[in-house]
Amino acid sequence: MRIYKFGGASVKDADGVRNVLNVIQTMGTEDLGLVVSAMGKTTNALEAVIETYQKNHNNYLDLIDELHRQHLQIIDALGSKSPGIEEEWLVRFRESDIKKGIKAIIESLKGELLRNKSRNYSFLYDQVVSNGELLSTRIVAAFLNACEVPVQWKDARQLISTDNKYRDAAVQWEESEQRIQEACSDQLFITQGFIGSDENGFTTTLGREGSDYTAAILAYCLNASGVTIWKDVPGVLNGDPRVFQNTVLLETIPYSEAIELAFYGASVIHPKTLQPLQGKEIPLYVKSFLNPKDSGTVITSAPEIKPSTPCFIVRKNLVFLRIASRDFSFIGEHNISDIFHELSTHKMQVGLIQNSAISFSLCVEDKYHKIKDLLRDLESRYKVSHVEGVSLYTVRHYDDASMEMVEAGKEKLLKQRTQETMQLIVKD
Ligand code: ADP
Ligand code: ASP
Ligand code: MG
Repeated sequence: MRIYKFGGASVKDADGVRNVLNVIQTMGTEDLGLVVSAMGKTTNALEAVIETYQKNHNNYLDLIDELHRQHLQIIDALGSKSPGIEEEWLVRFRESDIKKGIKAIIESLKGELLRNKSRNYSFLYDQVVSNGELLSTRIVAAFLNACEVPVQWKDARQLISTDNKYRDAAVQWEESEQRIQEACSDQLFITQGFIGSDENGFTTTLGREGSDYTAAILAYCLNASGVTIWKDVPGVLNGDPRVFQNTVLLETIPYSEAIELAFYGASVIHPKTLQPLQGKEIPLYVKSFLNPKDSGTVITSAPEIKPSTPCFIVRKNLVFLRIASRDFSFIGEHNISDIFHELSTHKMQVGLIQNSAISFSLCVEDKYHKIKDLLRDLESRYKVSHVEGVSLYTVRHYDDASMEMVEAGKEKLLKQRTQETMQLIVKD
């Protein structure tokens, strides 16, 4: 069994969906399971629906209607002539009940919001945002079926069992394994990334960008021979090509190195994805959906990264904090424990830490907009200075040239080096 994951960028429009067909026709459909994310920026649009709904603005309904229109447009485009797509397939697709299916999802979403009484934001988030994946997989499944690639649509909520930590649910492995093995062992199937359900049958999500993780969960439970994540880049590069120039394709990455890269913020792989795969030594391929035959990147139990080259990661829009005792006393274990308690209470993600005798410096991501509360609580006991809008650069396997390149022309706030990793905080 092989698992293929197609992300939002790969199904953002009709050309993307047609390309999914092309990729699986090129690579073969035997022993294959597909995991598909929401189309393009649908998840962000659904987040906007919740925000508007929570402000008691009725125009959340307009936002849902807009999403409905966008999906219908893709369906219409898929039903139109295109090279390589036979007339007979188009007729079958146009005559399918896909538009009805999409309408039913939209109506059920509206109904859910109208009836909703819950004040639990994370619960509501999962019930709403999960619709993006339901819409996309319905459309891709209908198209593949029309094009003589028989595929079974599966509801990931029947496959992936989780706890009820909405927005960041943890997988219940035994239950999921049993369900997945029962449901997915035979025919080509397609399911949603990112979503699961709790023991009461409510929808849960695995964290933003969680579709890669879904692919890994399925691969683990089905003892797959490999997972391929299809991307708009040739594979994992030694830096985000939107930020760094002259990037190099990494051909082989050891699991441990990929985990390090994900830990430091390389957004190309979701951090949770690697752990289940490493456990069973299932290789993770990252390949270009435009050139499916190209070899791309493989993440495996190889001993070393190939080619050997510095890798660059940047995390933007962080907050730099310098915390010192009020009376010039040492920052000791009890202070550090206290500071971390505050960071955890305010859900801050810590990017880098450095301590000296009387101060403690760190860089945090304020995902949940709680920086003001954190500062207030820390300032009651410490002297705190903070700088918002900073970037954290990490260079793995750095050398002089790569350090110079990252540092050039930037206002440096802090630099830290270990044998393998150099980190730099700069003001944006
Ligand atoms: P998906 O459609 O699977 O969600 P993403 O948009 O999350 O895909 O990821 C693909 C993007 O990740 C690329 O377009 C690229 O800009 C970015 N990216 C960030 N870091 C890297 C990296 N090290 N190598 C390749 N791409 C990277
Ligand atoms: N659609 C979800 C998101 O945008 C999950 C994913 O794409 O991986 O976060
Ligand atoms: Mg993504």
